[in-house]
Amino acid sequence: MTPKDFETWSAQAAAWGAKYRDTLRDKPVRAQTSAGDIYHAVPPKPPETGVEMEQIFADFERIIEPGMTHWQHPRFFAYFPANAAPVSVVAEYLVTAMAAQCMLWQTSPAATELETRMMEWLRDAVGLPSEFSGVIQDSASSATLAAVLVMRERATDWAGNQKGLKANPQLRIYCSDQVHTSIDRAIWVSGIGQDNLVKIPADPVTGALPPEALDEAIQADLAAGFLPAGYIGSVGGTSIGGTDDLSATIKVAHAHGLFVHIDAAWAGSAMICPEFRTLWAGVEMADSIVFNPHKWLGASFDCSAHLVRDPKVLVKTLAIQPEFLKTHGQDGVIDYSEWSVPLGRRFRALKLWFLLRFHGLEGLRTMIRNHVAWSQSLCERLRAHPDFEIVTEPVLSLFSFRQKGASDADTIALVEAINADGRIYLTQTRTGGHIAIRFQAGAFDMTEADIETAYDVLIEMSANA
Ligand code: PLP
Repeated sequence: MTPKDFETWSAQAAAWGAKYRDTLRDKPVRAQTSAGDIYHAVPPKPPETGVEMEQIFADFERIIEPGMTHWQHPRFFAYFPANAAPVSVVAEYLVTAMAAQCMLWQTSPAATELETRMMEWLRDAVGLPSEFSGVIQDSASSATLAAVLVMRERATDWAGNQKGLKANPQLRIYCSDQVHTSIDRAIWVSGIGQDNLVKIPADPVTGALPPEALDEAIQADLAAGFLPAGYIGSVGGTSIGGTDDLSATIKVAHAHGLFVHIDAAWAGSAMICPEFRTLWAGVEMADSIVFNPHKWLGASFDCSAHLVRDPKVLVKTLAIQPEFLKTHGQDGVIDYSEWSVPLGRRFRALKLWFLLRFHGLEGLRTMIRNHVAWSQSLCERLRAHPDFEIVTEPVLSLFSFRQKGASDADTIALVEAINADGRIYLTQTRTGGHIAIRFQAGAFDMTEADIETAYDVLIEMSANA
């Protein structure tokens, strides 16, 4: 590709992106394709000789775009958001154009030092104390894995990496039954094993891990000869927003010498609003915290903020320094690849810098406050409607509901009908033994009118169910 062609096609991609965003409201939110449609539209073999860009671009528009679920759609109410504010997309374009591999300070000094500064900005923005340091991981799953590996190494007197786990009593990690499956996977991958993830039933009403049950579980394990290593707290769990009372649970965990990691992947972004911080009161006692600016805040995927009280424990667990990765003659620099499982790293801090400067914290706070207020007002309208019942109360902008008297099969059928209709997109969860419809408001470009549409669609589709 000549420099001129590169410019032409980059401009074309940018123009396409702008039009795509501008016309999202006219598209069905969830892809309306059937399994295999896209696979069969792509030939089984790659071409032997190059194809013209006009053809490649036309095929992208013809085959790929219709097969996408539109995560940036203003009426995306499913899962949690994966917001990519346009300004962060612009930054990502620059990052992709430079395509630097930011594993070490010397491989991209600007990427490393901007990352340090951005993590300080985020730490302060969510109200964490200045002793926390941060690193941008690719995902909350990776941050949790890194934290679980620290739990493992710390509990085995830093011998697990070298000797494996056999030489030690069986490690135990504690959490509520509301945690995300990324916690289970971190336990599998770390070699600790699912049987040693002690999932304590959360209070059915508050979704919180009872601190006394945590204490009892640890005491029972100690008596049985296990080695308690860590506690993973939930703030805004994926299913219904389950949140532990951190001020109580962290004290229990620390009294037993456990390493504490908090998963606030979704809810953490809302902590830029001081009035929501009661949700994670006590978090400043944690050893490690993850939240995803790539969920609610608007930094395009991937961008997971991992804040740790003492980064030395991450480095002690994860750093490997063969000669070819050493930086000589630059004391005191950070090599962020020593803070994470993958060696290779993208330049993720640039999109945060663009995002935080363009919108300002106040702009982002307004967005989050609107989402919470609009979601809670929808919850109240559904509560007041004779056909619906609220199943779990709002946690920030997430609540669950169902049609009164609906069986699990009825609720699943209603969710499917709503998503096939395409005007809105939402998902279901299982709570209290039954299926409920899960609603979260978080799309970056959502307006109050989109919530009105959601209400109208819910009333209309449930009347036809
Ligand atoms: N934790 C919670 C509470 C989540 O909701 C999710 C994803 O939705 C994750 C962790 C995993 O996030 P990631 O995709 O960044 O690994």
